[in-house]
Amino acid sequence: MSSIPEHDTILNKPYVDITSIYHLEKELGRGQFGITYLCTEISTGLKYACKSISKLKLKRKKDIEDVRREILIMQHLSGQPNIVEFKGAYEDKNKLYLVMELCSGGELFDRIVSKGHFSEKEAAVIFRQIVNVVHVCHFMGVMHRDLKPENFLLVSKDEHSPLKITDFGLSVFIEGKVYRELVGSAYYLAPEVLERNYGKEIDVWSAGVILYILLSGVPPFWAETEAGIFYQVKNGKLDLSTHPWPSISAGAKDLIAKMLERNPKARISAAEALEHPWLKEDSDASEKPIDSAVLIRMKQFRTMNKLKKLALMVMAENLSDEEIKGLKEMFNNIDTDRSGTITIDELKHGLARLGSKLTELEIKQLMDAADVDKNGTIDYMEFISATMHRHRLDKEENMYKTFQFFDKDGSGYITRDELKQAMTEYRMGDDATIDEILDDVDTDKDGNINYEEFVAMMKKGTPDSDGRKNELFVYK
Ligand code: ADP
Repeated sequence: MSSIPEHDTILNKPYVDITSIYHLEKELGRGQFGITYLCTEISTGLKYACKSISKLKLKRKKDIEDVRREILIMQHLSGQPNIVEFKGAYEDKNKLYLVMELCSGGELFDRIVSKGHFSEKEAAVIFRQIVNVVHVCHFMGVMHRDLKPENFLLVSKDEHSPLKITDFGLSVFIEGKVYRELVGSAYYLAPEVLERNYGKEIDVWSAGVILYILLSGVPPFWAETEAGIFYQVKNGKLDLSTHPWPSISAGAKDLIAKMLERNPKARISAAEALEHPWLKEDSDASEKPIDSAVLIRMKQFRTMNKLKKLALMVMAENLSDEEIKGLKEMFNNIDTDRSGTITIDELKHGLARLGSKLTELEIKQLMDAADVDKNGTIDYMEFISATMHRHRLDKEENMYKTFQFFDKDGSGYITRDELKQAMTEYRMGDDATIDEILDDVDTDKDGNINYEEFVAMMKKGTPDSDGRKNELFVYK
């Protein structure tokens, strides 16, 4: 019998010294819970990716259940096409390590953008693999819940390298019940997730959003705020007629419309989508290059999301339990009759009293996003999840702390060198990417990013060529 008390271990097996099995080498990337390293198995010399997770960050019982489930699901799906192969899970006193197949070809969108040209035919070859991931997950009884371009990596730098899904952090085994948790990333969320009453059809929707971005460079539903994005997802009209859609084949548009069908019962299934003429192995999708404006927009979208992800990560690291407590107090302040729920009127008056500058429309959107039971009231948990990100971003102090993280020498602006330093620290970009970011964010073109420009970027996202905005809030 193991002498380690069960509550101390997450994997329920003895600690191992990971360095006796693998050489941990350079950092490949960072996520919410830890760092992913390149590693070499000492006994074979084979290379793998090793995702380390700090046990300190697994504070709640739920966090522990979540990683255990992530590991189970990876083991369960490993070996299937387009799914990253799982090698093993290890634990020591401070960390967990998930060792998996190395995908050295980088992120999907980076590859497309750096290649510089792209045809519908290539999009179909890529997208078939994405739909296949959905099919495999569903066939194996798993709902992924977080399908987005960043979670797809290319196995190698080879031009025909297969694509693999690498992250199952939000996945669950399908249990034939109704799911209610609000999880995923804003742009890719299916409308029924916002109603908190959903099943596996949500993955087909998210894949549909990815296809829309692949062919047009922008997400189908967007707005300046998270509540605004949610509003669009629920009510916005799917645009398949303005630029660049007239030059896209009818087959591609037909498939998108079937995947972005708001009624989950009427939505196409992954298995059916694989049979769609545009996606079939011998697809007649055109080899004509897609309009270069699409690639430019995709590049803007990707670049801004990267810097925002980094900034949000820095901000999250600086957010304390104190600040969550602050949100609770704010709720209690608004809930004047102490009923445990707030009405739209209480919200409106409360926010005005607390000096919030939200407009009527934004309040309505916030209410719509939070009030999932549609009874016209918001409870405490709904309130926290709906306001968390807006609160983080709105709070001047958080924004300033984040700015200071980048502004290492306290000069009041972020120089190219400082940004480069921060991005390298988080393995996030090469010289070219940094140039793109500076070009996008540095509106007064003085070569630096001042506080104002930083705030504008965090709050609004990149104006694209139409003067519309895009942004991404990772919403977990
Ligand atoms: P997150 O999903 O929050 O971005 P992860 O810890 O899953 O965080 O991954 C962090 C980064 O590590 C990813 O963005 C990716 O660049 C890299 N990465 C993850 N898995 C692999 C893998 N199997 N092979 C190569 N790089 C990987």
